Amino acid sequence: MNKFKYEKLFQFNKDNTKYMKLKTDPIKIKKIDGKEIIIITRNTIEKLAKEAFYNISHYLRQDHLKQISSIFKDKEASNNDKYVALTLLKNANVAAGGVLPMCQDTGTAIVLGKKGNFVWTNFDDEEFLSKGIWKAFKENNLRYSQLAPISMFEEVNTKTNLPAQIDIMSTEGNEYNFLFVAKGGGSANKTFFYQATPSVIRTKNIIKFIDPLIKNIGTAACPPYHLGIVIGGTSAEMNMKTLKLATCKYLDNIPKKGNSSGRAFRDLNMEEEIFDMTKKYGIGAQFGGKYFCHDVRVIRLPRHGASLPISIGVSCGADRQLKAIINKKGVFIEKLEKDPSKYLPKISVKELSSESVNIDLNQPMDKICRILSNLKIKTRVILTGTLIVARDIAHGKIKEKLDAKLKMPDYFKNHPIYYAGPAKTPKGLITGSFGPTTAGRMDSYVDLFQKHGGSKVMLAKGNRSKQVTDACKKYGGFYLGSIGGPGAELAKNNIKNVECIEYPELGMEAIWKIHVENFPAFIVIDDKGNDFFQSFGISN
Ligand code: SF4
Repeated sequence: MNKFKYEKLFQFNKDNTKYMKLKTDPIKIKKIDGKEIIIITRNTIEKLAKEAFYNISHYLRQDHLKQISSIFKDKEASNNDKYVALTLLKNANVAAGGVLPMCQDTGTAIVLGKKGNFVWTNFDDEEFLSKGIWKAFKENNLRYSQLAPISMFEEVNTKTNLPAQIDIMSTEGNEYNFLFVAKGGGSANKTFFYQATPSVIRTKNIIKFIDPLIKNIGTAACPPYHLGIVIGGTSAEMNMKTLKLATCKYLDNIPKKGNSSGRAFRDLNMEEEIFDMTKKYGIGAQFGGKYFCHDVRVIRLPRHGASLPISIGVSCGADRQLKAIINKKGVFIEKLEKDPSKYLPKISVKELSSESVNIDLNQPMDKICRILSNLKIKTRVILTGTLIVARDIAHGKIKEKLDAKLKMPDYFKNHPIYYAGPAKTPKGLITGSFGPTTAGRMDSYVDLFQKHGGSKVMLAKGNRSKQVTDACKKYGGFYLGSIGGPGAELAKNNIKNVECIEYPELGMEAIWKIHVENFPAFIVIDDKGNDFFQSFGISN
């Protein structure tokens, strides 16, 4: 047996993050046994959480913006890659105005704290972090997305966006370090865990193993992605927590090599190999091209000899995370980019696509379908007119009506259905951020609804399963893909009227009638059984 030797699992090198000081109550310092103890007030913790969630809802990291902007300089990037990049940059600019959040799904609030043993808070830290989050969601135009289970099948929206996920760990020293994350549902849903057999690494079959798994993430979480992969781990939950941190770039400065004590490390070669692999998928930034990912992080962890946990996940188009530190000098939060306009290229939408078809949605559904039927999949369409907005719970309610032998509502037959749920409407505006949600969650309803004359044209984000392609072929339907991620831009420039028509008590899950102008989308599935994503071998 070897001698006892302690090493930290995660060994961080110098933190090069740029921080800015936050105005808060002064940090008090008390000396006990020659050690400086820092004393933090509840107001400070509350204010930090509030500011953190406001900031990540509106501003992005400079590096993320630089990566989007670099797509324009790449000759191998497709026009659709560039079109998505341009839309995301425009969206970042609208969001940076500080009124409309960058995405309508303002996420689950997640806080990781590392509290030094010389940091003193004379209260429950989780309570005051939660209070700050509550204030951020109450006082800003964010969306309440958390559902509380009353029983196994009955749920209500908490209307506070609480509870948050808060993990506070103990460490040494007199600093309190934080990572704040606002994780959207679509992004969280693209987190996968596998218990592989150790033979996968013994035979060096790892790339072969993860290739189809990465491809199957599809486009529902609004690529380009920051892709994370974690191989190994002392437990399943350790593996998955590491994954979250990897996608947040929190582990960027750990060692690049392992050692015999089992420290975690980044495998840069594998990161490059996997990044190259994703460029060749052809999926690109949502509608074909090279930019499925911005970058890849691969973290290798120690493991039990009989286990090989592997996880895969992403940080999405709304790359929302922020680090913070409280120390004796004060409270500091990561500096995000307040002026993303400097990353906007001098390029117009017209230069990126010669082919687009304007469609008036205020005409009978049969006519709309006839126009779409004459177009090829991947055609860019520009929509103007009425859309009905309905997502998960609304679909469940319509199904209940059909199950009770009631009729499909006319609005579901006469208008295209947009899967979405808006964020709060800011004072003086028509709507809050209002981008598409993941289409795949509504797949199981499509055959039934189309059979009853509804959902003939659907609009949302991401790829869909074969049952939708089959239903569209059988009933003459279409699925149009909207760019995922630009909720603020769509609210500001494309959505001109919003009216709640049923189930107002469901909040953002209510059924809405909206008027859109020049709303961009692509034909993804047509009435002949064609599916744009089929060619990439994504299976659901
Ligand atoms: S960018 Fe897309 S995946 Fe991310 S939170 Fe918004 S809708 Fe969800």
